[in-house]
Amino acid sequence: MQSFDVLVIGGGPGGYVAAIRAAQLGFKTACCESNPYADPKGEPRLGGTCLNVGCIPSKALLHTSHLYEEAAHTFAGQGIRVQGLAIDVPAMMQRKAGIVTQLTQGIKGLFRKNKVSLLPGHGRFLGREGESWQIRVGEETVLAKHVIVATGSKARHLPNLPVDNRIVCDNVGALELQVVPERLVIVGAGVIGLEMGSVWRRLGSEVTILEALPDFLAAADADVAKEALSLFTKQGLKFQFGVTIEGAELKGDGAVLRYRDQEGKEQTLEADRVIVSVGRVPNTEGLGAEEVGLQVNERGQIAVDEHCRTNLPNVWAVGDVVRGPMLAHKAMEEGVMVAERIAGQAGHVNYDAIPWVIYTAPEIAWVGKTEAQLKAEGAEYRVGKIPFLANGRALGMGAPQGFIKMIACAKTDRILGVHIIGANASELIAEAVVALEFGAAAEDIARICHAHPTLSEVMHEAALAVDRRPLHF
Ligand code: FAD
Repeated sequence: MQSFDVLVIGGGPGGYVAAIRAAQLGFKTACCESNPYADPKGEPRLGGTCLNVGCIPSKALLHTSHLYEEAAHTFAGQGIRVQGLAIDVPAMMQRKAGIVTQLTQGIKGLFRKNKVSLLPGHGRFLGREGESWQIRVGEETVLAKHVIVATGSKARHLPNLPVDNRIVCDNVGALELQVVPERLVIVGAGVIGLEMGSVWRRLGSEVTILEALPDFLAAADADVAKEALSLFTKQGLKFQFGVTIEGAELKGDGAVLRYRDQEGKEQTLEADRVIVSVGRVPNTEGLGAEEVGLQVNERGQIAVDEHCRTNLPNVWAVGDVVRGPMLAHKAMEEGVMVAERIAGQAGHVNYDAIPWVIYTAPEIAWVGKTEAQLKAEGAEYRVGKIPFLANGRALGMGAPQGFIKMIACAKTDRILGVHIIGANASELIAEAVVALEFGAAAEDIARICHAHPTLSEVMHEAALAVDRRPLHF
């Protein structure tokens, strides 16, 4: 029977990073993975949801569709004439698949480099043998002193809207469409719904987004959500809020969706394709959690403390399967923390400084607290808000939309939150994350020399604006 110091169950961002870090720290490490996305050798691919059917393929499609939209609508204004512009969806999908293969195979290379054993197969707890855990992996049983559960999540489906990944798709089917649907309905106006809606709208679909909640992007700062809704509506996305889905009838190569609108009136909507993006559920099926007494909370997540320790000795859990934001970078940080904790080091994750990003155009990104959260806490704060319209680089790029809003403590000037809607927000937010991690004051950012002309100058100006002394606005 094979025996390991550390066995990781699941090879997504949480799991593969935990395995690499554990191996770097000198542990004999294995990672088991059972997904159906086989590589050319017939082995399951590593990278989990993120690399196979999540972050990476969605960003590849967002990039291509963005270029297409730029060529169609903004090139002419810059003196670039385009003739015969067309989108070749299968070629776009092939490029995306190539990126996925390159990255997932790359992780296999990293496993070889770091001497992590890949065990293809589904992992399930059997019980204890001495100080070790007995884990069934496919047809084999292995022993491990420490087990890190990183089994991730899968798309939440609605009982009255069965997903066939042909007409009604979750993220898996949505990333595989081979033609541009004329009419696309998206159920759920969250991050995934907005990103997928943007891809297909840019390529020519008429996109309607139906959202159950009365508000748009409730997790974001209200100013950002308001600006985003206005910009996305201008781009042509149609939104309906407070909607209850009643069901759908498949009709030919499409579907008729039945729902109740905000007033409770019955409505129908015809669609060529439907994408269901109503959140994700943790993967604990077939893990043997109940059999060994691994505690799962009321939301179906494996219960863990702030260091990702479960209720069982030497069993840890990270990523989408535990509490906290379902984000790849959060999963990876937890993977590193746990490997270092197993090694007796002081690995930690600062849950207050995890950035959020939505890769629409303009992008949306934030870190720290929103104004509404601070108001609810009764905190005293100051706000500096600067539009990209006041920035030369943004104008040169043809991206004057949006703003950066910095919120700092009124007494200490410590930065409490930074909220961005604008071009390259996904990259700009990194400066704010560093500031939050280092407990920086707005004045610290205000006194840092930012290169000119760059979008980062808007961050600089927002920090100056906290103290009511912006120079360029
Ligand atoms: P997963 O990536 O879900 O990996 C878990 C792995 O465990 C899977 O491969 C699964 O097959 C395997 N597994 C499960 N059970 C077992 C078992 N019993 N035995 C063996 N293997 C098992 N996040 C971002 O940060 N940025 C983004 O831009 C972003 N975009 C996204 C876009 C989409 C369309 C989707 C769906 C998600 C996106 N996410 C994004 C979220 C991100 O993909 C997840 O947060 C991340 O993948 C979680 O990592 P994980 O390791 O916890 O789980």
